[in-house]
Amino acid sequence: MTYQAPVNDILSALKAAGVFKAGIMNGSDALDEATVRAILEEAGKFGSEVLDPLNQIGDKTGSCLRDGRVVTPPGWSEAYRQFADGGWSALPCPPEYGGQGLPSAVAISACEIWNAANMAFGMCPLLTNGAIDALHIGGSQDLKARYLPRMISGDWTGTMNLTEPQAGSDLNAVATRAVPAEDGTYRITGTKIYISYGDHDLTDNIIHLVLARLPDAPPGTRGISLFLVPKFLVGDDGSPGERNDVVCAGLEHKLGIVASPTCVMKFGENGGAIGFLVGEENRGLATMFVMMNAARLAVGVQGVAIAERATQRALKYAQERRQGRAAGAKEMSPIIDHPDIRRMLLTMRVLTLAARGICMATAAATDLSHQAGEADTRTRAADRVALLTPVAKAFATDVAVEVASLGIQVHGGMGFIEDTGAAQHLRDARILPIYEGTNGIQAIDLVTRKLPLSGGDAVTSYLADVNVTLNNLRTAALPQMEFALEQMARALEALATATEWIVRKLQSHPQVALAGATPYLQLFALVAGGDALVRLALNAGNDAVPASHLRFFAENRSVMAWGLAATIMAGSVSVLDADLGVTT
Ligand SMILES: Cc1cc2nc3c(=O)[nH]c(=O)nc-3n(C[C@H](O)[C@H](O)[C@H](O)COP(=O)(O)OP(=O)(O)OC[C@H]3O[C@@H](n4cnc5c(N)ncnc54)[C@H](O)[C@@H]3O)c2cc1C
Repeated sequence: MTYQAPVNDILSALKAAGVFKAGIMNGSDALDEATVRAILEEAGKFGSEVLDPLNQIGDKTGSCLRDGRVVTPPGWSEAYRQFADGGWSALPCPPEYGGQGLPSAVAISACEIWNAANMAFGMCPLLTNGAIDALHIGGSQDLKARYLPRMISGDWTGTMNLTEPQAGSDLNAVATRAVPAEDGTYRITGTKIYISYGDHDLTDNIIHLVLARLPDAPPGTRGISLFLVPKFLVGDDGSPGERNDVVCAGLEHKLGIVASPTCVMKFGENGGAIGFLVGEENRGLATMFVMMNAARLAVGVQGVAIAERATQRALKYAQERRQGRAAGAKEMSPIIDHPDIRRMLLTMRVLTLAARGICMATAAATDLSHQAGEADTRTRAADRVALLTPVAKAFATDVAVEVASLGIQVHGGMGFIEDTGAAQHLRDARILPIYEGTNGIQAIDLVTRKLPLSGGDAVTSYLADVNVTLNNLRTAALPQMEFALEQMARALEALATATEWIVRKLQSHPQVALAGATPYLQLFALVAGGDALVRLALNAGNDAVPASHLRFFAENRSVMAWGLAATIMAGSVSVLDADLGVTT
């Protein structure tokens, strides 16, 4: 079944997030709805015609390591060339280095399309864009001039080298070393693991961004620096020359995204890889966070992508497969007529819409934080981005796993058979809650760093904004919405109560607050997802479908809010008290 880019749904999400208002689209009128539609339709064509046909091939073949070089699956190189030639790698990038400078909200819309069509392929430009961001913000003029144009054109790709065997979630433990050389460069030695697209045959150079420690660096994250380490050193004429001392020493065998090479990278086995400092010594993590925050939102978008793809596939199958008789039917019915299948399909649909809405709200706030005329508006928007990023990442990726699993269930036994394609979605989705900061780490980030932001104003102003959205819904008086509205108001109340509780506990009993972090993020997302669906319904004009989705969400998901609040406020203590049965 061929993937169809949901251009109308994405455009609705862009509108509902207020993206076409002045101040977000670079303050210009040029990027109106028709232009964005044209971009997304072209992206959709590329996704369906070029990337989608390689998705199952990539899954079956995988990438492999041959004579020290990673070889991608058949067709991959050609598709990548077309991708770069089409200018797709340049969408959100700075115009002064050849980028198209499109807003983040439009870029993530295209990112959804690549990843829905082929997530293992989509990983590569996603990481390159993160590396471009970090280099643009932290790099010297020389580094930017030498590397950015070729990365933006797609001639070269970028990687993110954080993880080491002893340093996963905890980057304090990074041990890769960087020793200053007399010529102002550094010699990098160490091993990085799980590096996506650490090596491949798509381009003639790969630009690694690497976290490492100087010999006299303070311990912990305050002693981490960021380095650019090219696979091939780049001469003054801009062309790749001598091979640098960095190799791919192994490829991981994985549950999903098997075509995306996950590499063990060895730096400096022969005297030290030549690295160039990005930003200041010992301040590398701050720059890397630029890349990680953008990547966190992009990984959330990968979640939306897989959820959309799984939903499309299940909807089609449910219309074709006949089993049993629905009430009143004289012959075997398509399974879509059975209420239990309807429940699953609607759950898949609304979770996807809610996840897309949260990601889009985060991207719109990102654009506002750069483009708004008033400094105060920019600051408040930056707070909103910081608050919503862990929610977007964790919720949308949990949704991907839930929706992909429901997609298999809708297919029955066929869902478990690889040829159908539904199983691949679940296998691919399963990495999403793990990489780019596990969802547990996102929840801890939300509770410990984001709730205290701006003295608590970031979260209180968010809750106030959701209240305004609900009031708008009340005023609109959509038919059959009374119970739904009541449930969403109760969900908002539950979130406000749980927020006060968890902020208090953070001071008095931090372990209890940490035990409640994941259900707290889930409750937050329930409210944020409801907010996104209300905005969609209010923007829908005469189309009654978004209102029916909103009602389904509120009556089937928002109703869970007080249960989650109880899990946070009562259940957290038993997390600490209950016996795990581990003997020491
Ligand atoms: C396919 C794939 C691609 C990847 N791509 C890249 C890449 O390109 N670049 C890169 O640098 N890395 C990459 N990674 C690494 C990835 O980001 C890490 O796997 C992830 O950050 C988790 O680290 P870990 O595996 O060491 O797990 P651990 O940190 O050991 O975590 C194990 C469990 O403990 C929990 N945990 C850990 N610390 C805490 C805490 N303080 N409080 C509560 N719970 C905690 C975690 O949430 C998790 O559930 C990739 C990984 C995979 C599998």
